[in-house]
Amino acid sequence: MTEKVLIAGGGIGGLASGLSLARAGAVVRVLERAPALTEVGAGVQLGPNVTRILSAWGLSSALESVAVFPANLHARSALSGELLATLSLRDMSARYGAPYATIHRADLQTLLLQAAEVQGVVVRCDAHVQDVQNLENAVAVALAHQGSELTERADALVVADGVWSVLRQQLLGDGAPRMTGHLAYRALVAQSDLPVHLRTQDVTVWMGPRVHVVQYPVRGGEWLNVVCLTEGQLEGVALQELQGWNLRKTAAATRADLQAALTGACPTLHALVDACGEWRLWPLCDRVPMRGAHEHVQGRAVLLGDAAHPMRPYLAQGAGMAIEDAAELGHQWTAQAGRDVPMRLNAFAQARWQRNAQVQARAIRNGDVFHATGPVQWARDAGLRMLGARLMDLPWLYGHRHGA
Ligand SMILES: Cc1cc2nc3c(=O)[nH]c(=O)nc-3n(C[C@H](O)[C@H](O)[C@H](O)COP(=O)(O)OP(=O)(O)OC[C@H]3O[C@@H](n4cnc5c(N)ncnc54)[C@H](O)[C@@H]3O)c2cc1C
Repeated sequence: MTEKVLIAGGGIGGLASGLSLARAGAVVRVLERAPALTEVGAGVQLGPNVTRILSAWGLSSALESVAVFPANLHARSALSGELLATLSLRDMSARYGAPYATIHRADLQTLLLQAAEVQGVVVRCDAHVQDVQNLENAVAVALAHQGSELTERADALVVADGVWSVLRQQLLGDGAPRMTGHLAYRALVAQSDLPVHLRTQDVTVWMGPRVHVVQYPVRGGEWLNVVCLTEGQLEGVALQELQGWNLRKTAAATRADLQAALTGACPTLHALVDACGEWRLWPLCDRVPMRGAHEHVQGRAVLLGDAAHPMRPYLAQGAGMAIEDAAELGHQWTAQAGRDVPMRLNAFAQARWQRNAQVQARAIRNGDVFHATGPVQWARDAGLRMLGARLMDLPWLYGHRHGA
């Protein structure tokens, strides 16, 4: 029997799970609230744990046409500019069987969309999923589509509606995500607009007290994605604004925030930040690490990506974990084909929740290390100088294989 699966959300998690389930033989429809899949977001880094999956889905050459494969990951002091350590990314393929890539989020979304459509996945925009009910042998999904209210039945619903998931509230009722007290300012700048000494095809993390900056190339290397992560709250912003990708302060207010956060930083870092024209601002939200498989599955509804495990971006793995989720879901759909849908979803949840919890927890810890002050900062820098790449390489993360 061919099962019908609906997916709420056409972000990275929704499209990847659509592709993965269609490859496993399901009939899939993605329901996306936005009127169109637009170019939102900025850069994302993809570790070999993620590019390995994209490659298994036949997307290596599509990835090569839009992504960058940086040669190095550098850790620098934001204050002195000192190069503390370098991890070579060149031999990631030799070590982990897949490369380390950086890509614009919109390029990743397009790549997944095209591959999903080739597999027969139908994507409906302007389709706002409002309610989900677990029935005895199906799931009932209420949605508003182009002005009409509809209810559809399916064998399963994938809940991939992001960090502010309304469907999670219906299924788990565990409240809103928490504000982390961290803010991400993000800019994209054409490399050709930068002075030559600031142009780079490498990934660099600049670590300072209560602040860090990450930079890496995207769009074939022609653009540089720059993210400045600071500590602080954002006052007086409506929830709806928080939920978008395009929050902005005035140029003067942004400049003042960044200058305050980077007090004492080296001239090169100031020059980089000054060279970036337009900054978008994302207040970062997360949840405590997953506490059990029940946070992934409720009957015939399966939560994945940020809806299930929103995380701080300090391991650069939020989209990566959504793609790992998708791959595992497709794997279990096939591996457990003789069992009913709730059992297949349960096998997925059992396989995934501890991995996601571990990545969430390590991301929190990484943020503390990046933003360290005093003796912890001293110990971090000394450790990086001494152990270098051995501290920066993450075999437990990059070597993970789904279905293993
Ligand atoms: C500063 C920053 C840097 C990051 N860097 C990285 C990185 O380097 N590497 C990495 O892997 N990850 C990174 N991430 C994380 C990554 O962006 C997210 O984890 C990832 O986009 C989550 O994908 P998702 O599909 O779960 O959710 P989303 O991308 O949020 O998609 C959810 C979709 O659901 C739709 N939707 C919402 N509600 C409904 C509804 N009721 N009905 C229908 N549709 C609905 C939304 O419109 C949206 O399209 C970063 C995040 C931030 C904030």
